[in-house]
Amino acid sequence: MSTVSSEPLADRGIASTYQVRTYGCQMNVHDSERLSGLLEAAGYVPAPAGQVADVVVFNTCAVRENADNRLYGNLSHLVPVKEANPRMQIAVGGCLAQKDQGEILRKAPWVDVVFGTHNIGSLPMLLERARVAQEAQIEIKEALEVFPSSLPTKRDAAYAAYVSISVGCNNTCTFCIVPALRGTEKDRRVGDILSEIHMLVDQGVLEVTLLGQNVNAYGVEFGDREAFGKLLRACGEISGLERVRFMSPHPRDFTDDVITAMAETANVMPQLHMPLQSGSDSVLQSMRRSYRQERYLGIIEKVRSAMPAAAITTDIIVGFPGETESDFEQTVHVVREARFAGAYTFLYSQRPGTPAASMPGQIPHEVMQDRYLRLVEVANDIAWAENKALVGQTLEVLVANGEGRKDAETERVSGRAPDNRLVHVAIDTQIGVPRPGDLVTAEVTHAAPHHLVADRVLSLRRTRAGDCSEQPVDKSVLLGLPAMRPV
Ligand code: SF4
Repeated sequence: MSTVSSEPLADRGIASTYQVRTYGCQMNVHDSERLSGLLEAAGYVPAPAGQVADVVVFNTCAVRENADNRLYGNLSHLVPVKEANPRMQIAVGGCLAQKDQGEILRKAPWVDVVFGTHNIGSLPMLLERARVAQEAQIEIKEALEVFPSSLPTKRDAAYAAYVSISVGCNNTCTFCIVPALRGTEKDRRVGDILSEIHMLVDQGVLEVTLLGQNVNAYGVEFGDREAFGKLLRACGEISGLERVRFMSPHPRDFTDDVITAMAETANVMPQLHMPLQSGSDSVLQSMRRSYRQERYLGIIEKVRSAMPAAAITTDIIVGFPGETESDFEQTVHVVREARFAGAYTFLYSQRPGTPAASMPGQIPHEVMQDRYLRLVEVANDIAWAENKALVGQTLEVLVANGEGRKDAETERVSGRAPDNRLVHVAIDTQIGVPRPGDLVTAEVTHAAPHHLVADRVLSLRRTRAGDCSEQPVDKSVLLGLPAMRPV
């Protein structure tokens, strides 16, 4: 077995630029930060914009319909590139790799490395082995052996970071492939989590998002049902940590102590993203989601009474097998009652390997589409009304380096309010030009369904994260700003 040499790649004549292409959820985004960190620790450097990298890593997602067709299509595009650059290597990881395993090498024999969701730490070693042995390498572990907390990470932003607190999920939702691919829940040690957050804050990070497939089940592995609330309170003790968020919680595990901890911990933001999936009790039952409409709305009511300013968002699946018009109306009813600040609405898609894919009563596409459009209209109207109610309020916006659009035209920067609403803020040169990571206090002057505009700037707080931002938002270079990426 070969090992990774410590000699710089370029000195050894090894092609050394990389690019990670990420598909799917925030967990994958965070895994990609680790993959980038690992590759840079092994001597690779990011490929310059517009150039195809020497090493292209696909971090795949198995959740969306046709994910595999898209992957094989993208892999085919690289065949001529690889022929022109024989030193090029292609690696495929993530959920689709965990699912398809050796099938990937059969369908795309020009791939060099296939690695699973439980062994992202092996990537540099597998690339080296494939190069030395001139043979494709595949490594898929069926279970996580050690929580991957000590892997190097390369973050996109200096001001915000994801922190994994658990991986895997013990639920069995019938539409979801995650438990099969990510395994059962593994919880990270509290001390380990807190020391990572301390280290991030020392580096200038202002905001952390605690991540878990079922984040509020945290503690199930060591038998403490209140562990998640305690963790939120412990985050509240970290000086310099200004914003704490988490995703995604499951209504089943949403205990009252978490609501109290959210309300009583100053740096836990007034925001909750809690997937509803369906408002119908019978659909929830066939989805194997163990809460019912009443329980879901009960949680929302408690959150609103503890944190009246909280913005609540959700995920909804429309057209789950067997969904009737009256089931769908129950979902619309919950959307009206909950008054979501945003609803991410998806058409049900059959995901191979899930129980729902072979359930009777699959809904015709036209019916799904019609329900989807009706639901989106209701959800947008509510989100817009909720946004309009904020006009005239003063918000502190953490300027992002990934969310702006039309900055050159509008002379605004973009960021997130404490409740996670997207806000476009005017640049007031008298007060100062904000950089990603700085905090601007401004008055909301306009509301749209999916964002706010705050053109009355009151103050600017410069931060260390702003100082080390790689992409200063300088008015003099606004016209040359690179396209901003969504977070
Ligand atoms: S809670 Fe359900 S939807 Fe979420 S990861 Fe677990 S099985 Fe999938």
